[in-house]
Amino acid sequence: MDAARDPYDLVVVGAGIVGTLVALLAKRHHPGWRIALVDRSLMGHGATLYSAYLDVPLGSTPVRRMLTERSRVLYQQLRAELPDLPLRDLPAVFLTAAAREQERLDGLVRDAASAPRRVDAARALELAPPGFRAPEGAVVLGDVQAARCTAPTLVTTLARAFLSQPGSVCLEGVEIIRVTPEGDGSQRLTAHDGRELKARRTALCLGPWLGSTRTALAGVSQHWRVKKIAALHVPIAPHPDAPVLYLLDDEAFLLPQPEHGRYLFSFRSEHWDCEPEVSTLRIDPPDQARARGILERYLDVSGLELGGRVFCDAYSADTNPSVEPLAAVPGAFAVGGGAGSGFRLAPALAERAVHALEAGTGG
Ligand SMILES: Cc1cc2nc3c(=O)[nH]c(=O)nc-3n(C[C@H](O)[C@H](O)[C@H](O)COP(=O)(O)OP(=O)(O)OC[C@H]3O[C@@H](n4cnc5c(N)ncnc54)[C@H](O)[C@@H]3O)c2cc1C
Repeated sequence: MDAARDPYDLVVVGAGIVGTLVALLAKRHHPGWRIALVDRSLMGHGATLYSAYLDVPLGSTPVRRMLTERSRVLYQQLRAELPDLPLRDLPAVFLTAAAREQERLDGLVRDAASAPRRVDAARALELAPPGFRAPEGAVVLGDVQAARCTAPTLVTTLARAFLSQPGSVCLEGVEIIRVTPEGDGSQRLTAHDGRELKARRTALCLGPWLGSTRTALAGVSQHWRVKKIAALHVPIAPHPDAPVLYLLDDEAFLLPQPEHGRYLFSFRSEHWDCEPEVSTLRIDPPDQARARGILERYLDVSGLELGGRVFCDAYSADTNPSVEPLAAVPGAFAVGGGAGSGFRLAPALAERAVHALEAGTGG
């Protein structure tokens, strides 16, 4: 790498689900662009590695709903083009207290037509884990299709599609430590080993590292905070056609992972301002107790040993993901902040990023 040679048309820093899609979609929109996708680690080994990869057609803000809908379309297109993309549909069943049904739906869907409908509980829960019960006074909603990723090859499959285009490179094990403006409107990216890249456009798709105060690149961390995300692994073998059970009042879900012979139980953690450093993040006893407390209302797990997974993500104050221009570095954008939904929203967010990179303005 040498900044003296021709600049890249685009450098994408961060090869998680978001950055890889930015690189792929940018290449599709601009086949002539030279594009470099750079990651300090291996591609897909940031927050994306830990994802539960659930895509449900709900969104808690209008922006998130819009991105969810657009992402669905883009994921469908990608699935049609890349048959080995490990994405599968599954039915979604939602539970909420009858008294809160309308409030819940109003906050999560665009209109009545796209809302999950009341369904026969016994039928909808037929393939739920044995012993699963809806709490007293709960209603069961369904008739909705969700999607999930079934293998850790999602990012590498997308990256392969990107790399199959001429003028595409991927550099793993290269950390960008500084992004500075050049007089001609381009950007200079300095790597940990002193190497430099020059770019006409830069997308910083750093996932939780966007909010890291330790690794703050060009001051991007002010917009985002980092929150821990944890999920338990419940060793109950799901039926191959089991639905995901979304527990709306508990902001939790039970996701069947038949390929692992288990359910994944995702629940809300309120641990803010952590650093994206695997060795410092744990599912601690309060997390375990909270998660078990929720689970026990639906399923007897008292006799089960539960493991799990934990990492973190970048959250913006309004929970909307965004494409933020870097005030000090024209032509560079920070892209992300999925508020724990980066897999679901990644294609539409990446598309927005490509438009911003083309126009030179954010959104
Ligand atoms: C336990 C858990 C469960 C989740 N479940 C879901 C779910 O069910 N559905 C859903 O939609 N979302 C879920 N999420 C959230 C989702 O995983 C994230 O929002 C998404 O993976 C973020 O993708 P990203 O590409 O923005 O970030 P990342 O995957 O973190 O990618 C960022 C990349 O940037 C690289 N990087 C950082 N700094 C630098 C630097 N200075 N130089 C070079 N490279 C750098 C990192 O190495 C990393 O590979 C979950 C997250 C967790 C932790």
